[in-house]
Amino acid sequence: MPLSKPLRLSVLPIWYALVSAACADATVSTGYSRSDDSFKFESVPSPAIDDAAAGAEFKIIGGSADPNAGKSPAVLHDGKIPGNDDDPAGNFFFSRDTGKGRLLIDLGKVIDVKSVATYSWHQGGRAAQRYTLYSSEGTAPDFKADPGEGADPEKSGWRLAGKVDTSGKGPGQHGAEISGGKDGTLGKTRYLLLETQPNEDPSGFGQTFWSEIDVIDAAAPEVKRVSVEKILDTFQTDDGKYKFVVDSTKSPDLREWFEQKVVPEVKIWYPKIVDMLAVPGYSSPVSFSLRLQEGVIIPGNRGIPAYASGGNIVVSSDFLRSQQKGEAVGCVIHEIVHIAQTSDWGNRSRRRGVPSWVVEGVADYIRWFLFEPESNGAVIRNPDRAKYNASYRVTANFFDWVVRHHVKHLPQRLNATFSTGYKDELWKEWTGKTVQELEADWKKSLAESAKK
Ligand SMILES: [Zn+2]
Repeated sequence: MPLSKPLRLSVLPIWYALVSAACADATVSTGYSRSDDSFKFESVPSPAIDDAAAGAEFKIIGGSADPNAGKSPAVLHDGKIPGNDDDPAGNFFFSRDTGKGRLLIDLGKVIDVKSVATYSWHQGGRAAQRYTLYSSEGTAPDFKADPGEGADPEKSGWRLAGKVDTSGKGPGQHGAEISGGKDGTLGKTRYLLLETQPNEDPSGFGQTFWSEIDVIDAAAPEVKRVSVEKILDTFQTDDGKYKFVVDSTKSPDLREWFEQKVVPEVKIWYPKIVDMLAVPGYSSPVSFSLRLQEGVIIPGNRGIPAYASGGNIVVSSDFLRSQQKGEAVGCVIHEIVHIAQTSDWGNRSRRRGVPSWVVEGVADYIRWFLFEPESNGAVIRNPDRAKYNASYRVTANFFDWVVRHHVKHLPQRLNATFSTGYKDELWKEWTGKTVQELEADWKKSLAESAKK
């Protein structure tokens, strides 16, 4: 490297030094967004739907696909973006032991390529893109579509098109576009070869989550881009007191069903639940949101159907689809109990030591015993093993028994502990019996009804 180079680099903006070396006058632009905003960048266009890669053949010629990756590598040119920032099925990624990976794209015919764009998305160390792009017409006598493991493509009829490195920007959505070149295009091309490099990650899981690869034909009409328009519908309860927004942007196929089957129940039940939990000096939120989310909704926790956090409910769209006639509506009712439990003072339940079995038990009590008693969803099949603090349905069953035998307004009493503090002694105060004595009585009655 000539001595003058480091001096020049030092006055360039830092991103240039980190990012890219474009070849043959090509330009590399990069985009980055921390938020979930459908790959909306200033300098890189949003992913295209009907670009020249849509009908191309994608083939792995170096390394292997990770078994958890989506219908790989078909997901790279389906014009669809992943559901969230940790959606293995919506991305393609190489296996952990791959090292450098190679993807071959056969466009099927020679076209004048205007630009190539790549998109990736991850909530951790697998967001950034590091790759070298080669292109070829495929007509040179020495051309080899697969140059062979570790072999330099430039010695097999390929030309270097550009190098991309977006590392250093962190988790989120990354985009890169290689464009321009001598005649304003990357030249006549039938084949593209991406040589990828994993990110440096101490866990060893550094392979980029590749979301989409676009190839723009200079002669083709303007392509359609992935829509970034949000689908938000606002509803109000009949008493006019409460408002909620349903966000079905990611799952438009569920919008109509959700608004016909779930929304009416939320409109009826949210005000009821708020009244049921109302205690002086305490007010449940007057507005909240319900968002339908594709893929795994809490990274690393498969199988979680829904959660509520900070006035927002997130529901798994996969769960809704599979449970439309089953648990879908009841699950949302459980979550709106959590909204009503949170108050304008935030998450006081933690500060006041209210155990999670109480929080979840109340939510499941309202769901299984008041909203859908006919489903018998919290029947206990093995009374011997029942514990009052086993949480969810089991605790809900215990609460139902306490409501019927001792404390009519138990949910309200328990809700008050969010501000006054929870302790086991309260059961004695309310019923004259310790929680252990109550548990024994409850189990006796479970055993009796099991005999019938
Ligand atoms: Zn819950």
